[in-house]
Amino acid sequence: MEYEASAEIKASKVAGFALAELQKYLGMTQIDEQAPEVIELSLGPPSEFPADAHDGFRLVRSAGKLGIRSAQERGLLNGVYEVLNHLGFAFPFPDVDRRPAKADWARLNKCDGEGSCFIPSFRHRILHFDNLRLTPAMIDWAGKLKINMIQRPLHEYKIDTGGGTELVDMIGARGIELNVGCHGFDNWLPPCTYGREHPEWYASQHPVHQGIFIDPTGELPPSEFSAGQVCLSNPDVLAEFSANVVGFLKANPQVRTVSLWPNDGIDNWCACESCLALEPEPGRRETTEASQDDPPAPLSRDRCVSAAPQRAE
Ligand SMILES: [Zn+2]
Repeated sequence: MEYEASAEIKASKVAGFALAELQKYLGMTQIDEQAPEVIELSLGPPSEFPADAHDGFRLVRSAGKLGIRSAQERGLLNGVYEVLNHLGFAFPFPDVDRRPAKADWARLNKCDGEGSCFIPSFRHRILHFDNLRLTPAMIDWAGKLKINMIQRPLHEYKIDTGGGTELVDMIGARGIELNVGCHGFDNWLPPCTYGREHPEWYASQHPVHQGIFIDPTGELPPSEFSAGQVCLSNPDVLAEFSANVVGFLKANPQVRTVSLWPNDGIDNWCACESCLALEPEPGRRETTEASQDDPPAPLSRDRCVSAAPQRAE
């Protein structure tokens, strides 16, 4: 079997990786008379694909040849794994590759989509988890499942990578977008950095606001101790928050997006006078099924909306 790919594809990080994956796995199989003589990987202009194709791909068969085509490099990798799936390869768990005793080329030749585009059902397929470490095996597995975004809480991302590049390089080679942030406004304003000098930056009812630094679990180091929500009506909070987000993105260009989510919970929002004044209905209180027995909390979503333009600056 021969492989055709332009010099541009061979030199490209993601497309080159797709080609290497194809060669690696097909090298483990028997080639029979139903197999194409040539497999070609090619990138076509977006105009040749539906507008919603994103990292979709086409499998195009002609006499003796199978073409894997996409408008995006990431789509080529998706196409490679699709071909491998049709041939009988399976990737059921991280670090577990199942390969067929004999590649099922007949099945691949019968699969739907002759020349038509395989369009992912969802533009973003996200692997999100916390309280687990991100490992090379998980990244490799995510690529094979056609995951195109990995999302990690900020503090866990820092522990995952430890300032190193191995995981980041693996994610980059698979064309997977990195998204960092998730629940934890205070991750951007760590209480161990700011809490003693600026206790007023944290929610009025949180112990840190009173200068008390006690981890309720007694287990967390100061760097991971949560101070809950921050005081969103304080302009110094927004300025430092924004500076830290921008600084993080500049120092970590591999991170494409940040997710700015409040800390979990509805009854932990700052209840200082100026925060309550941001509420369009200051007297209104909110409860959920989960918090029926707790004191009703001030509504809080409007505060995020109020603070957002300042963050954007
Ligand atoms: Zn406040």
